[in-house]
Amino acid sequence: MNDKDIIHDMIIVGAGPAGYTAAIYAARAGRKPIIITGLQPGGQLMITTDVENYPGFRETIQGPWLMAEMGAQATHAGAEIINDTIVKVDFSTPHNFALMGDSGKTYRGRTIIIATGANAKWLGLPVEEKFKGFGVSGCATCDGFFYKGQDVLVVGGGNTAMEEALYLTNLCRQVTLVHRSDKFRAEQILQDRVKNNPKIKIIWNSRLIDIKGAGEPPVVEEAVIENIKDKKQTTLKVQGVFIAIGHTPATEIFKGQLEMDKTGYLKVAVGTTNSSVKGVFAAGDVADSVYRQAVTSAGMGCMAALDADRLLKD
Ligand code: FAD
Ligand code: NAP
Repeated sequence: MNDKDIIHDMIIVGAGPAGYTAAIYAARAGRKPIIITGLQPGGQLMITTDVENYPGFRETIQGPWLMAEMGAQATHAGAEIINDTIVKVDFSTPHNFALMGDSGKTYRGRTIIIATGANAKWLGLPVEEKFKGFGVSGCATCDGFFYKGQDVLVVGGGNTAMEEALYLTNLCRQVTLVHRSDKFRAEQILQDRVKNNPKIKIIWNSRLIDIKGAGEPPVVEEAVIENIKDKKQTTLKVQGVFIAIGHTPATEIFKGQLEMDKTGYLKVAVGTTNSSVKGVFAAGDVADSVYRQAVTSAGMGCMAALDADRLLKD
């Protein structure tokens, strides 16, 4: 039998909290789901360290550990994990939806659960591209180690920026946090930790406008900050710049096939995970511009598996 002949009951695209939870429920319902992981098995929590708000754990747990446990629970329940990335989809034939993988394989499913999450946003400065991987990073827990004992800059005012700044204080000499307004949107507990940390200097109402450096490969030497109100520019000597300004939903491959809002999040019918195509469901950050938490994503993953199972029964 080749790929074309197999039509799975449920295919889950994405292996973050939403995808793994959908897989656990689908497998326990006897649907033998497959999960296609994409480039980041485990999802966004693989690039963080401390997780303190996932229910069930009084002590701080580690993001990668939590995701390894979720993955193990999904396979233990009977889900199959496939390392491939979906590059194209065709949702035009009901009960026989097609997903084309980077590997060249086509996966067919009666129902599909999309749990592709979100990717880090960049400022869009041309110099960002020049220094990406050479002093400019989107992940402190991945790259912070390279800036041990050095001075770094973090851009952003949400939970990610607070966590990245705090994490970097364990490694770096000084951390400057630049935010475009005069208030953070992060949880109060994280804001307080940042404001009370002597290693963190906050620059309000300002934006990063340029990064300077030299060499081949290039090395970051300075960051140019502009005050939004009086346009005054300041040059800071830093060796690393961390961009932590949020995430964009990973929905590029669904354009033209599924309805999205104006920022690219998949639309689901209120109170369900039903996308605009019957039989295709969406769960987690990919369909949620508001809450974007591991626990809400897991909750939506559960809903999607139950919605898909109900449709298959009907
Ligand atoms: P993701 O976790 O984004 O997973 C998406 C999955 O889809 C990945 O496996 C990816 O490889 C896959 N994928 C993408 N495109 C494709 C494709 N084309 N084909 C196949 N697979 C694909 N939340 C908390 O509740 N507590 C925290 O402490 C916390 N800390 C965080 C720290 C950081 C640094 C970040 C960035 C986020 C944090 N969050 C936290 C938010 C939380 O990580 C997300 O809300 C959650 O991971 C979203 O889960 P998800 O399953 O929807 O998507
Ligand atoms: P976010 O909440 O969307 O915050 C993005 C921040 O970046 C905002 O402060 C925003 O400024 C700023 N920003 C956006 N675009 C910018 C630009 N072009 N230039 C300068 N600044 C810009 O994103 P996030 O912090 O990545 O968090 C994403 C989600 O994951 C949230 O739901 C968050 O709660 C969750 N998360 C949770 C935890 C946790 O629970 N511990 C940790 C990390 C993330 P404005 O405020 O001015 O808009």
